[in-house]
Amino acid sequence: MTRISPGATCGGKVTRLGWIRNVCQGDDNLDDQRLIPETLRAEVLRHLTYTLGKDAPNASIYDWRMALSYAIRDHIVEPWFAATRRTWAEDRKRVYYLSMEFLIGRILEDATVNLGLRDQAQEVMASLGQDFSQIVEDEPDAALGNGGLGRLAACFMESMATVGCPAYGYGIRYEHGLFRQRFQNGQQIEAPEDWLRQTHPWEFARPESAYTIPFKGNVETRDGKPVWVPGETVLASAHDTPVIGWQGKWANTLRLWEALPTQMFDLERFNRGDYAAAAEPEALARTLSRVLYPDDTTYQGKELRLKQEFFLTSAALQDILRRFKNGHSNLRDLPKYVAIQMNDTHPAIAGPELVRLLSDENGLPFEEAMETAQACLGYTNHTLLPEALERWATFTFGAVLPRHMQIVEQIDSWHRRTYSPPHYIGIVKHQEVRMGELAFVMAHKVNGVSALHSDLVKKNLFPELNRLHPGRIINQTNGVTPRRWLKMANRPLADLITETIGDGWEADLDKLRGLEAHVDDAAFRAKFDKSKRANKVALAAWIKDHCGVTVSPDALFDVQVKRIHEYKRQLLNILQTVSHWHAIKQDPTANWVPRVKIFGGKSAPGYAVAKEIIHFINDVATVVNNDPDTKDLLKIVYPENYNVSMAERLIPASDLSEQISTAGKEASGTGNMKFMMNGAPTIGTLDGANVEILQEVGAENFFLFGLTTEEAMKRREDPDQSRKAIEASQPMLDVLQMVAEGRFSPDQKDRYHGLVHRVWHHDYFLVAADFDAYNAAQAKVDAAYADRAAWVRMAAMNTARSGFFSSDRTIRSYMSEIWDIPAAI
Ligand SMILES: *Cc1c(COP(=O)(O)O)cnc(C)c1O
Repeated sequence: MTRISPGATCGGKVTRLGWIRNVCQGDDNLDDQRLIPETLRAEVLRHLTYTLGKDAPNASIYDWRMALSYAIRDHIVEPWFAATRRTWAEDRKRVYYLSMEFLIGRILEDATVNLGLRDQAQEVMASLGQDFSQIVEDEPDAALGNGGLGRLAACFMESMATVGCPAYGYGIRYEHGLFRQRFQNGQQIEAPEDWLRQTHPWEFARPESAYTIPFKGNVETRDGKPVWVPGETVLASAHDTPVIGWQGKWANTLRLWEALPTQMFDLERFNRGDYAAAAEPEALARTLSRVLYPDDTTYQGKELRLKQEFFLTSAALQDILRRFKNGHSNLRDLPKYVAIQMNDTHPAIAGPELVRLLSDENGLPFEEAMETAQACLGYTNHTLLPEALERWATFTFGAVLPRHMQIVEQIDSWHRRTYSPPHYIGIVKHQEVRMGELAFVMAHKVNGVSALHSDLVKKNLFPELNRLHPGRIINQTNGVTPRRWLKMANRPLADLITETIGDGWEADLDKLRGLEAHVDDAAFRAKFDKSKRANKVALAAWIKDHCGVTVSPDALFDVQVKRIHEYKRQLLNILQTVSHWHAIKQDPTANWVPRVKIFGGKSAPGYAVAKEIIHFINDVATVVNNDPDTKDLLKIVYPENYNVSMAERLIPASDLSEQISTAGKEASGTGNMKFMMNGAPTIGTLDGANVEILQEVGAENFFLFGLTTEEAMKRREDPDQSRKAIEASQPMLDVLQMVAEGRFSPDQKDRYHGLVHRVWHHDYFLVAADFDAYNAAQAKVDAAYADRAAWVRMAAMNTARSGFFSSDRTIRSYMSEIWDIPAAI
């Protein structure tokens, strides 16, 4: 083996590690090109030897993964430093994205893709006798989020690096991310997730960047000024992960805070032999960054959660002010250099905390502190569901953050004084602090996440505040990064796209429109179909391995993957599946299109109704998958533990995207965009970003069904609506009858009586009302799928018209409409 030291030669020029690739690219001397993998190979071996301390013959897959990760990370550091230096040198405004969740997934392969080193990495590892894809799969997902909201934050970090927006993401370095899901007799079991048990190679610990975070205590008056005397403190210690953009042109920082005790250890108690008590302060502090709350779209008024929110926010704001003061002295200039985005209300304490830091700690008068804070802050609303809107009992809020309780009341009366609302709009109301109203009042822009959602934020969520502050609410339709969700996750399709329209589409996704010129070309369609089939063959093998079910890649792969929630209506899907199964059994020789129904998703541990839906899907799967009458025509699979890595496997292999939420309930959805990019037409309602997907792709390439938001609201006014809908539908009657009889729970025939009863009598999410329309849309899907040429054309049109849903477009729009930041590259 050759050892190449930093300072290897390349094309006659001495280059530093990390720049070799750039210097060599554009050089057509093939001998020089060969240097690239050999350099990377040497780097991997150097890390294996000197960083891991392992001899190659004894190295495990973990050791190889770590060695490769460190070698790849080295290539990120130079562009990262360069970007940071430029931001300082040019004294640029920066974005600070505050989020309690970053649902990142794996990093290694994504980093190699953005650095243009994926093929080299694969080649190098093969030359070392290692399989690159196995190494990639050895990496645990960084699952520091629940679902869409956390994944959006991760896509935004990647897009901000790609478009050259100077930015920091701020979050919590949870020791345990989202729980691992297993099924036991069809029921969800939660196990702790342990991503930090192995070394996380992508982060740099920054013990020198630590801040004291105060809690509790009381507020005293000294010299006529309020002084917060905290009752307890913890330390927030930084860990930085560089985030590299497409082609390595820019990199930003994701800074995650770990909670540490301000006092490590009680030596006096230890010396007295009281070992448990001696470790107490440490254990207590660490609970703050111990676990991610697994509730998605619901919240519980738990004190620890409020402390986590303040921990993240205060650490971030102290860090932001420290960085600002490094080059500036006038705090009124803060908005010229600082844009702070609050991802939902979770960091909404940023409003009062920034006011406190500016006024109590830096002497700005209250009103100036207010105006300065407001000009910095933006608030993204993610939901209309009332159970998701954070409200803290003033008792809890005042106990944990006594000074902030006073400031919130001051903000409330300032708002009343300044804008004199026609009637009382309280941030504090009925002994609760309402975080939505607080975030709204403190932000200069409030945004919804799809056109429909932003309209409903104006009309239904904040109608009075909207009248008082016209123009403050704007729309920013979500997006997803095409590097991870197309280039990396769907290699066969990405290669076909490049072959057809050339490169450059990865960072300019509107270029995909160029595919439209080819959809009527049978040769192109055959290649498109072949790429989809390759993904389906791979998924079929994986399903066999992981679920023990044999599925045919020729069947229609119909996929619904997302958190399990009543409003997302997995129940509608599985009931229609039962109906379909019943119809096949009634007429087994009809010309059925074979289907594989794929479900994926976790329920919040305390959400009993969602857990029952999981149990029911698994019970139906057991019966259907063992039915000899339907075995070649219908299969149901529900792999355990849906996460980002599973999404990357399932979505490229999907034929049909299930986006069937009750109209008016899904803020945007981003899963819907990933499917569209990967050439899976949607069956869906007019909800969230589906509306815009339909508009972009055209009605002929979308299976629309169901009530609209207005119709849904109207329908609920009739307390008998579900009974009437069921009685008017023979298929619905049959399905509910089978379920009630215990056909899917032979060992406990009454298991789903409660579920059936709820559909009959309390069907708030309108499963019954939309059932027939959904059933009819599914029949149209079958008919369309049978016409191969037309189907593949439709699939290709979905990819071709998905350009709008790149998160690069979303980020550029935030930059001009909220942050007032130009791109640095
Ligand atoms: C994209 C994504 C989501 C969001 O899916 P929706 O269908 O928009 O709810 C949730 N979880 C994971 C792992 C994702 O990748």
